[in-house]
Amino acid sequence: MTDLLRLLKLFTPYRRWMLGGIALGSVVILANVALLALSGWFIASMALAGLGLQTIAYFAPAALIRGLAILRTGARYGERLVTHEATLRCLAELRVWFYERLEPLGPAAMDTWRGGDLLSRIRADIDSLDNLYLRIVAPVTNALLCGIVIVAGLAWFDTRIALLDLAALMLAGAVLPLLALKLGDAAGRGLTEARAALDGAATDTVRGLGELAVLGAVTRQRERVAGLAERLIRHQRRQMWVGAIGRALSGLTANLALWGTLILVIPRVAAGDMPGPQLAMLALGVLASFEAVAALPTAFAAFGETAAAARRLVEIADATPVVTAPDPAAARTPARFDIAFDDVSMRYRDEADWALAGFSLTLEAGEAVGLVGDSGAGKSTILALIQRFREFQAGEITIGGVSVRDIDDATLRQTISVVAQRTHLFNASIRDNLLLAKPDASDDEVREALRLAGLEEEIAHFPDGLDTLVGEVGTRLSGGQARRVAIARAFLRDARILLLDEPTEGLDADSEARVLEALGNLMQGKTTLLVSHRPRALAFVGRVMRVSKSDLVTAGS
Ligand code: ADP
Repeated sequence: MTDLLRLLKLFTPYRRWMLGGIALGSVVILANVALLALSGWFIASMALAGLGLQTIAYFAPAALIRGLAILRTGARYGERLVTHEATLRCLAELRVWFYERLEPLGPAAMDTWRGGDLLSRIRADIDSLDNLYLRIVAPVTNALLCGIVIVAGLAWFDTRIALLDLAALMLAGAVLPLLALKLGDAAGRGLTEARAALDGAATDTVRGLGELAVLGAVTRQRERVAGLAERLIRHQRRQMWVGAIGRALSGLTANLALWGTLILVIPRVAAGDMPGPQLAMLALGVLASFEAVAALPTAFAAFGETAAAARRLVEIADATPVVTAPDPAAARTPARFDIAFDDVSMRYRDEADWALAGFSLTLEAGEAVGLVGDSGAGKSTILALIQRFREFQAGEITIGGVSVRDIDDATLRQTISVVAQRTHLFNASIRDNLLLAKPDASDDEVREALRLAGLEEEIAHFPDGLDTLVGEVGTRLSGGQARRVAIARAFLRDARILLLDEPTEGLDADSEARVLEALGNLMQGKTTLLVSHRPRALAFVGRVMRVSKSDLVTAGS
């Protein structure tokens, strides 16, 4: 509940849209109740007039009925328009809010939440929150407002009917929905979790399809996904049941209230205490009054799912980033680009083993050093630490004498370029993939970067040159080409520090040679850390250091 209120507060900039939607919704309900009640009265009066039992000035009521019908239709249209506008604006706000909190968590967030799970929170949970205003806040407010007006209106004619209607509205609008809420909360939570599990498994399956096929595990994985899908359907079915039974019981209550009204009013009309047409008016008015609470069972059934979605979003939004950004006033910009690791120790969790213990390394500005070592020795950790993706517990890391803890994120990103084994290419043109590194680069600069990366000719042969679309996840570029795109990005960015993380891993000798040639250009004058086991790659650095858990030795090469 507190999570929902917190997210609702984010929507305050759009309160005018939200209140406007609620006002229009109330107009729709009240116009509808008035229309039905007045029509009942009017038809009964006209019938009596036809029988010669009374006279009626029909012009004014007929015009009023027409007016109410037009008002109802117009307000309904306006209500849909305004409530949807309000919802979409709120969701846009929510997405930005969530992303702003997700970003500082950095790659470390992936330790806690899997990619598919994060994706589903961004997509499905935020979408679930469109319920918050549209299906929860607006209908509940409308029910309260309209309920009060209708009951007061009925009381003007007959207090007993007003009390009867009030009781029936409370039953259909509060008691039954609260029961539905109790059932819907568990189902809703299960539903959100089941959907996240299914999304996660589906994403995993698609990403790992190659491995699954090789390991012959496709069938097993398919059964797992099918099982999760069935679980999702079970939860959905349960929630549908809750909604359907709620609606059926509300309908029953409304019809019982109609009968009750007739039982109360007929003796009064028979006794001549009330004009006959009012019988039709009150009976139809009572029946129509249930429109005010009609949306409540759905509202409360959606409550569980929406609250669970809010809880999951807030959980991420409140997660503390593993690294703290420096106080903007204290942030410093390095003027030199030598790097020093001084007795650095790091572990991923408080109780975990040290991933890096007392690691020291100094690089002069412009120097290139290679890092080798067994898998798990801590090479990736070293690269992550200098990029401030992870926090270290002891020692100090400096760039140009400035602690990395005092360098703000934007400066650090400007200072460091990375070429890694995996290069993510966006499904956009080659030009756009390069401009990511420098959005205002001219075509000449882009071409020069491609030339230096040894890609100019190959790209000139592509059908649309720089505007050729890269297939999803870079499928239309070879591994070597993709890495040279990353190198071209690094040329454009022209950061003074270069981190090369197994840049030629998985390439054949020919591709490796071309990538290394491009890297050789790129490394000129840059402080470079190269993680690699490839002798041809290591030949490009002045010094190679072996990283090992037990003893850290520096070896010349
Ligand atoms: P290398 O790059 O040399 O293979 P890493 O830096 O990846 O080594 O790993 C160093 C140690 O830190 C290993 O023991 C590894 O299990 C651990 N480690 C790496 N990444 C994580 C992580 N995200 N969470 C927990 N432990 C990790």
